[in-house]
Amino acid sequence: MHRSRLWISLCAFHTSKWHDSPSIWHADLLQEKNMDLNGKTIVITGGGQGLGRAMAIVMAKEGANLALIDLNDEPLAEAVQLCKDAGGDAKSYKANVAKEDDVIAAFDAIEADFGEVHGLINNAGILRDGLMIKFKDGKIEKRMSLAEWQAVIDVNLTGVFLCGREAASRMIEKGVAGCIINISSISKAGNMGQTNYSAAKAGVAAMATVWAKELARYGIRAAAIAPGFIATEMVASMKPEALEKMAAGIPLRRLGEPEEVAHTAKFIFENDYISGRVIELDAGLRL
Ligand code: NAD
Repeated sequence: MHRSRLWISLCAFHTSKWHDSPSIWHADLLQEKNMDLNGKTIVITGGGQGLGRAMAIVMAKEGANLALIDLNDEPLAEAVQLCKDAGGDAKSYKANVAKEDDVIAAFDAIEADFGEVHGLINNAGILRDGLMIKFKDGKIEKRMSLAEWQAVIDVNLTGVFLCGREAASRMIEKGVAGCIINISSISKAGNMGQTNYSAAKAGVAAMATVWAKELARYGIRAAAIAPGFIATEMVASMKPEALEKMAAGIPLRRLGEPEEVAHTAKFIFENDYISGRVIELDAGLRL
């Protein structure tokens, strides 16, 4: 088809199917372009330290209100202060993202404090690494326990579902054109020693795509970031030999900085045409 004709057809489709059908597509929400973080409320799980804290500070510099969910008071209090120093408002909410009641109570409190939720970063995560089966000297030495499997699935997968469901419900009820970002990982490709973690991180990448499809009609976007190896305490907890071997395979020959992940999250929030995709932030490393 001639290019100008194709363009006219697309415009006709655009106006007739989308803008004239507010029952399907909330046309007023679609008008909002390029989310301005100033004054918006962004919930970050695992916001007390590491990537969550770094992302909170970057959003605070843009004037956002940060609602930081985490397990422990002390890192949360530090993160809240750093956000305030950076120019945003911030409050902490002690909750376990793997527990439905905790998540609902935290979002109730966030709405009571800030009114609306405009963004969510599903960032809280844990590691319980190990081979599924370790076989040595003719016998099975160790197997990944159900507890190791379940702990990671509960936090890294179920926690993302619970918080994503809660944030989306509240955005829809209040007619907020929001955005949800799931923190996946390069391990979603399937990393040795990470049966539990890889399964969860592939799952949260898939959920971002599902939510982009299901929630677009309410003006809500969803995306994911799959970082490679970033210099946080989680990575510092890896065995030094494993870390060294991994870093040697990174084309840029360095770990990522938490601020580089935060920059990517800011880009996703601010660019209203990003949805349903995973941004791979790994300096070219492939597992
Ligand atoms: P981190 O361990 O430094 O921080 C994780 C935070 O999540 C902590 O503050 C912890 O208390 C919190 N948390 C853990 N379980 C929780 C629960 N049940 N409820 C609420 N909060 C909980 O880790 P990080 O390196 O900052 O990683 C953040 C996210 O990024 C994780 O999902 C991780 O899997 C992912 N990730 C990290 C890297 C990396 O290289 N650091 C790479 C890829 C993906």
